[in-house]
Amino acid sequence: MNKRKNFSNKRNAILNTICNTDCHPSAKWIYNKIKDKYPDISLGTIYRNIALFKEEGIVRTVATVNGEERIDGKTEPHSHFICTKCGSIYDIFNEELTAVDSILCDEGFKIESKCITYYGKCNKCS
Ligand SMILES: [Zn+2]
Ligand SMILES: [Zn+2]
Repeated sequence: MNKRKNFSNKRNAILNTICNTDCHPSAKWIYNKIKDKYPDISLGTIYRNIALFKEEGIVRTVATVNGEERIDGKTEPHSHFICTKCGSIYDIFNEELTAVDSILCDEGFKIESKCITYYGKCNKCS
């Protein structure tokens, strides 16, 4: 296997791991998930790839929870609920949250991005 191929395999493994989970993983979580399959991968490689994916706009940062940046592979607009007890991040896809968007548009504002995040205790912790 040449070096280039090996590089893109790892890149794909990292990206697939991010996109195939709903847990909004941290770099460490991804590392633990794929290190058995790619024993020579380092946490630094994961961080570097996440930075590239963000530049390319294929993943985004949700928030920093307990000192760890959490990544989302879903780029379609949605909101989040972050549990301050267990650190779980839940997706919220709710049409009603877009009501404010149309009010702003009507008033001539142009939205470039938005990020609505709720904090509290999730239904497993409250
Ligand atoms: Zn919780
Ligand atoms: Zn999300």
